[in-house]
Amino acid sequence: MTRVRQAANLAVAELMRILVDLHNFRWDNAWRITVATLSYTNHTLLPEALETWPLELFERLLPRHLEIIYRINVAHLALADARAPDDLEFKAAVSLIDEKSGRKVRMGQLAFVGSHRINGVSGMHSELMKETVFHELNQLYPGRITNKTNGITFRRWLMVANPKLTDLLREACGEAVLDDPTLLCDLEARASDNAFQQQFRAVKHHNKIALARLVWERLKLVIDPSALFDVQIKRIHEYKRQLLNILEAVALYHAIKDEPQRDWVPRVKIFAGKAAASYSYAKLIIKLINDVAEVINNDPVIAGRLKIAFLPDYNVSLAEIIIPAADLSEQISTAGMEASGTGNMKLALNGALTIGTLDGANIEILDHVGPENIAIFGMKAADVVARRKQGLDATDVIRRSPRLLRAVNAIAAGEFSPGEPGRFQSIAHALSHLDHYMVSADFDSYYDCQRGIDARWQVTPAWTRASVLNVARMPWFSSDRTIREYAQDIWNVPVRATAPEALQPGVQRGATR
Ligand SMILES: *Cc1c(COP(=O)(O)O)cnc(C)c1O
Repeated sequence: MTRVRQAANLAVAELMRILVDLHNFRWDNAWRITVATLSYTNHTLLPEALETWPLELFERLLPRHLEIIYRINVAHLALADARAPDDLEFKAAVSLIDEKSGRKVRMGQLAFVGSHRINGVSGMHSELMKETVFHELNQLYPGRITNKTNGITFRRWLMVANPKLTDLLREACGEAVLDDPTLLCDLEARASDNAFQQQFRAVKHHNKIALARLVWERLKLVIDPSALFDVQIKRIHEYKRQLLNILEAVALYHAIKDEPQRDWVPRVKIFAGKAAASYSYAKLIIKLINDVAEVINNDPVIAGRLKIAFLPDYNVSLAEIIIPAADLSEQISTAGMEASGTGNMKLALNGALTIGTLDGANIEILDHVGPENIAIFGMKAADVVARRKQGLDATDVIRRSPRLLRAVNAIAAGEFSPGEPGRFQSIAHALSHLDHYMVSADFDSYYDCQRGIDARWQVTPAWTRASVLNVARMPWFSSDRTIREYAQDIWNVPVRATAPEALQPGVQRGATR
């Protein structure tokens, strides 16, 4: 996947080759056309995704392209020299060739230099691009980096996936809402209306029964549709922190065991996601989730008040069934590491409340739904950078949190893998020491935030109101808005009349489309 995307960076050299070699354009003209034509959307700041290709490989496979890249680099470095004469460090930082670790072509930097616009996919991600990976290039080409926050298509994630909710929204906001999501704002007036709330809850309940049926069919696990459905569905990755979620499940399990008579809020934690084929640690996390599920789901003391379901083979079709049934959306990545996320948008559009960190598009979801309709916890991106710089061991945070200590010890001692007690020792070790993804560091904040969710869930009208307001305030996250912005600000192509104008009185429906 990454290979395919990054290979697109070759477009800079390839378009130059076509213009210069095949169509006899003069170099300067070809360069002007290339830069005016191409734009580069960056999708992640993870270093492993910003590819570098060994010169030796390039020379063998694409010698002419390498020649072109060298010539682009000459003009590019001349510009760097003019801006910062004699600043060798600056020139080394912006060069298309990495001279430090066995000479390589920097493909992301090549895409940057050959594009008229470079964008990130959420406000925070675009700002971090300016501060981190493209810090020097941004100084050399100021104004090229821009932001285009991702969106989702409401046709799939609302109308196809959730027909019952769509019907209710058509009734409440009018038929035109199908073309113009901004009309969802009409829900604001109904958010506290008791009759509307009942209809809204009936839709969610219907969708939860459908998911419960699927969980039974696939896992032979019974889950209660009236429990809080707590959903984390996304690729399994350490930065997405499924580990934080399952660690909280272990701590909650211990808490229920300690006080089984308390009125615990019934909760079903639903996970789905795939790990990359070679990512063995991510696969071990999947194993841990399944092992913890096995113990908790079958413990008579818990009596069904906490259940864990890991649905295998995550894909879009499965997402379309899970998302309409979700009450709580887990968006708990280590701050600074999720470029945008789109699952966060899909779930909020379907009325799930978000529990999340200040990361990626969560920040913009917070801006739109308002702080009272989302649950934010944990370290901020700058805190993460600072803590990593300090090189702190997680021993201190574990010492201060008996709950976390007990959960980590249980995992380390084989409480969930009695047949192989050492199975999760590597996970326990990472949590206790390096804690690169701040799972231990964020644990207490997350646990407390989850208990706040429990308390909110018990006040049904207030929960439903927040859920309705999440739906009402999502229109900006329509991919129609995103595409319109790309068309206007990056591609410079004419934009058709947008839905609101097309639907104004006197304009024939269908006339403009
Ligand atoms: C939306 C979606 C994703 C992206 O989810 P994130 O939570 O943003 O990581 C991944 N896989 C599938 C199948 C999806 O539908």
